Amino acid sequence: MNLILLDPNDLTDDGHVCITDPRRLTHLLNVHRSAPGDLLTVGVQGGSMGKAMLKELTAERAYFQLETLNEPPPPPLPVHLVLALPRPRMLARTLEHVTSLGVKEITLLHTKRVEKSYWQSPELRTDKIHQHLVLGLEQARDTQLPSVTLSKGFRPFLEQQLPGLLSKRRGLVAHPGMPNACPRGISDPTLLLVGPEGGFIAWEVEQLMLAGCEGMHLGPRILRVETAVTALLSRLF
Ligand code: SAH
Repeated sequence: MNLILLDPNDLTDDGHVCITDPRRLTHLLNVHRSAPGDLLTVGVQGGSMGKAMLKELTAERAYFQLETLNEPPPPPLPVHLVLALPRPRMLARTLEHVTSLGVKEITLLHTKRVEKSYWQSPELRTDKIHQHLVLGLEQARDTQLPSVTLSKGFRPFLEQQLPGLLSKRRGLVAHPGMPNACPRGISDPTLLLVGPEGGFIAWEVEQLMLAGCEGMHLGPRILRVETAVTALLSRLF
């Protein structure tokens, strides 16, 4: 937690912050080992970042005085990430990593090689997803939550969502064995599609290319989804 992410409800009218939830309190007590007088980095969800002075810390509450709150969050990456739904634990880690890296739009997609049972996982509950996004923001010092959309059918995605998404973005499908290497250092608005643990099937890649996406590879090593996404985002942007 390199930034204490504040819900607008944590702020009092007179420029103070009061935190009472166990997760942030435990972190302040046991990881930061904070003490009154410490100046900590804070940010308001969806808003600015700044510094707050810790006035009081007990097992029940942390009470801060806001010193500044005028720094903008870091710029987002110009990417909409379409991720074939990975297994629940991988999903949790991947959401956290991509949020830290600055992705603001995420679509979780069903493809042929996604296990149907993954769609029933508790990790897909709105509160669970929110929790991973918050951890990613706190890690990276950011305040802008990504939006996460679930797309439970490949064909409806292809027919109803993809054309709109590609109207303003360059579509890139990460798929081992494609002739072209992943571009480097681009700044164009991009739609990045990453396959499931078993990869996209040939038909899916074909359909994505017919819709206007370009295929690309990251070299001969097959990476886990969470590693591939991190490598792709850092190389692309
Ligand atoms: N077993 C699959 C790979 C799955 S890896 C196969 O052999 O095709 C999971 C996803 O990560 C892939 O669908 C792809 O989107 C991405 N990925 C992993 N390694 C990659 C590489 N070397 N090049 C391009 N994409 C890669």
